[in-house]
Amino acid sequence: MAQFQNTILFANEQDQKDELKNYRNQFYFPQHNNEPVVYFTGNSLGLQPKQTKSYIEQELNDWAKFGVEGHFLAKNPWMPYHELLTDKMAKIVGALPSEVIMMNQLTVNLHLLMVSFYQPTKQRYKILCEAKAFPSDQYALQSQLNFHGFNSDDALIEVAPREGEYHIRIEDILTEIEKNKDSIALILIGGVNYFSGQVFDMKSITNAGHKAGAIVGFDLAHAAGNIKLELHNWGVDFAAWCSYKYLNSGPGSVAGAFIHEKHHQNTNLPLFAGWWGHDKKTRFLMDKKFIPMQNAERWQLSNAPILSMAACLSSLSIFDEVGMDKLILKSNQLTAYLEYIVNEINKEKNNCLQIITPIENRGCQISIVANGYGKDLYNNLIENGVIPDWREPNVIRCAPVPLYNNFTDIYRFGAVLSKIL
Ligand SMILES: *Cc1c(COP(=O)(O)O)cnc(C)c1O
Repeated sequence: MAQFQNTILFANEQDQKDELKNYRNQFYFPQHNNEPVVYFTGNSLGLQPKQTKSYIEQELNDWAKFGVEGHFLAKNPWMPYHELLTDKMAKIVGALPSEVIMMNQLTVNLHLLMVSFYQPTKQRYKILCEAKAFPSDQYALQSQLNFHGFNSDDALIEVAPREGEYHIRIEDILTEIEKNKDSIALILIGGVNYFSGQVFDMKSITNAGHKAGAIVGFDLAHAAGNIKLELHNWGVDFAAWCSYKYLNSGPGSVAGAFIHEKHHQNTNLPLFAGWWGHDKKTRFLMDKKFIPMQNAERWQLSNAPILSMAACLSSLSIFDEVGMDKLILKSNQLTAYLEYIVNEINKEKNNCLQIITPIENRGCQISIVANGYGKDLYNNLIENGVIPDWREPNVIRCAPVPLYNNFTDIYRFGAVLSKIL
């Protein structure tokens, strides 16, 4: 990339050259003074693809037309509807199609997967996670420990940043794994930390975890659709993610789960079962005995939520067309430009801003500490047509998303920030 410049001309030029520039037009942007806002919260709720309405309408129409027979007669029959999502989703997370299933919600999936993959014994019962994990993950881990009769003071190993640092050193995670190698049962870490934007070296953590005799899972809420993932090749045991952040599938939309192929034949794994995990060929014989699917679909309980899956299918079709490699390429450029702009503003403003996201381990998100500023700063940004995300006490999270954000958004963000600081 050429030398960056903090000018509207430079930003416009980069946008002209951008091979993916037209995808922006496929999304609805909230408006501010009749202009699209600078939307930097795709890490919280991705924007709506314009085509999503027609995907959902298709299913509403087929429901109106066919009633229950839509399971077989709909244009996309509902019975196997979830299968339409599998290949596209598997490509995004670097999995085999047999390893991926879209179902439920994220926290629900974490629990269901821990039912199978957190099997503590008296000796081996500890869970390792990152300190200040997303609250829902903390609650899930604590309640799993309690459910098995352990308590988190003793059984939860939380690896924290060192004094005065903002992100967690990988060597500290590996050391902690090694130190607890006789007692650790499960490692469950957010692949990308939601607060700092730090990307963890999932391959090394997986290797270290396995060497210590632990199962390794990841919460990919902030990773899926954001960074390059190779869940299969890394040998990750299981993972779960939501589809409403980078995957643009709408509020509370259907979530994803990954179960590595190496576990598919193991019928001894504990499972909370439902009829949609039963072998397809004989599912409707409605027999008493549960015959499990030999792939990730075994973990399905219920029949699929078609309307939210339609929104998900709409979005995944766009990802499928572009491909993660091109998205990541653009993402790296956008985020580098954002970093540059923040640094430029910082020079004018006595270094009041501090980027706490590690440059060498990040996706598209940059988290910025605004020293000496409170929530007023965030409110001011909103009033000026910029939507970032605010985390107490003074962190702004900005996620320029390669599918629909551009260089001009970043320039505009910089101009507004510079004005109000
Ligand atoms: C967004 C997010 C969640 C949200 O969980 P839901 O079950 O979808 O409400 C959980 N964990 C992490 C790490 C997240 O980023």
